[in-house]
Amino acid sequence: MATREERLSAAAARAYKSLETRIGDDHLPSPGLWWCRGCGQDVEWPCAAARASLVKAYSGDRPGLLFYLDLLYARALVDLPPQPKGQLRARIVGWAR
Ligand SMILES: [Zn+2]
Repeated sequence: MATREERLSAAAARAYKSLETRIGDDHLPSPGLWWCRGCGQDVEWPCAAARASLVKAYSGDRPGLLFYLDLLYARALVDLPPQPKGQLRARIVGWAR
């Protein structure tokens, strides 16, 4: 039986993998680093274009968008070094609230 953490990690990995089918390949996060591959290393993901694409992909389904962003956040939390409490969540999820 998978633990809750293992299930969350698998769901987060699936969410990350499915980004391209949701928003195309122009503004994806750089693997493991989470800057925008389309905008460059100076721009943290999600950039403005990625946010617009995510909103479009989930048009009319804000709960679905927030759930999806939470999974991406779980993935980013593993990928990135520790940051001040709440900062990463605000960046990945907070903009859509
Ligand atoms: Zn971008």
